[in-house]
Amino acid sequence: MTKLIVFFVTFVGKKDFMQISQITDTLESFAPIALQESFDNCGLLVGNPQCEATGVLLCIDVVENIVDEAIASGCNLIVAHHPLIFRGIKKLNGKTYIERCIEKAVKNDVAIYAAHTNFDITRRGVSHRMAKLLNLHNIRILSPKKDILCKVVTFIPYDYLEKLKVAVAQVGAGHIGNYDSCSFSSSGEGSFRALEGAQPFVGEAFTLHTEQESRVEWILPTYILDNVLNTIKSTHPYEEPAIDVYPLANKWDNYGLGVVGELTEERTEKDFLLQVKDIFEVKAIRHSPLLNKKIRTVALCGGSGADFIADAKRSGADIYLTGDITYHRFFEAENSIVIADIGHFESEQYTKEIFYEQITKKFPNFVVRFSEAERNIVSYF
Ligand SMILES: [Zn+2]
Repeated sequence: MTKLIVFFVTFVGKKDFMQISQITDTLESFAPIALQESFDNCGLLVGNPQCEATGVLLCIDVVENIVDEAIASGCNLIVAHHPLIFRGIKKLNGKTYIERCIEKAVKNDVAIYAAHTNFDITRRGVSHRMAKLLNLHNIRILSPKKDILCKVVTFIPYDYLEKLKVAVAQVGAGHIGNYDSCSFSSSGEGSFRALEGAQPFVGEAFTLHTEQESRVEWILPTYILDNVLNTIKSTHPYEEPAIDVYPLANKWDNYGLGVVGELTEERTEKDFLLQVKDIFEVKAIRHSPLLNKKIRTVALCGGSGADFIADAKRSGADIYLTGDITYHRFFEAENSIVIADIGHFESEQYTKEIFYEQITKKFPNFVVRFSEAERNIVSYF
């Protein structure tokens, strides 16, 4: 009888070993770390990625009581939007909340992960979630990402073209908007002469050879370039495939900071601001003068989006919602747009839902909790 009970407990209590890296890889497959801004510090800030994950606690900011909550709830991984460690730390003596959080996390084997501007920039990220809550449609990017696209070209015998196209599409090249597997190919003649030591796939050594080939090209973000080049080399039949890589000046229209979209029906400015207050639980909205116009097109950017006021005006939006607008920036509205500061935390609070959806979609039975201790650090008197 005792043996049976022991067996039963062991069986029921057994669960799959889940590494912390499996959780963070899931988040990064949605929002690659390579998308983060140059000033940022996304990724695993504290902890060993090979350790077993016991549960995930989701928050916007890591402070001491969040680490306490993680410990008390048995979650040894905190996934936060804002990086706890942003600048270099030269001492760890508990003088700041950052140092105390790190110390407590390390002592209690709690890992801390930040998913910040990569989640701002990615498709269906922070600002997209705000747009969804406002029921905006016809969504486009407010400030598309620049200097991240390149073009890769190679030349391959006709018979091997389709196999290569499939392999390269599988690693993410040729993804344009809502289309994947995009490429262009054209026909031509390739010429080459194999020298000593070469093992040519076609043709004879020391003889000029001409082969009917396809020139095939893809557009791709540079952070997958190595993967794409390795795929081409491993799929291409030639010993030395010719591959060209060109940097592109194109903006990446589907990735970037902030979004613009339309309301399903026009609202008065006051009606719309009331709706925003309600949805984002804003105690007070600071805004530039109202223009007595109907709101149809809305630009928004979660977090600190003051730098995109000009983009919002250019987009033709009637109103721009973001956080952290300082006094002088409100003058930039110049009676052509309403600028509204809805609060940094307020605008980004629903980012946790994206974390939750991505992790539970991949690991439906894993413990993922929203912090109950989290509060907006800014109070309104
Ligand atoms: Zn933020």
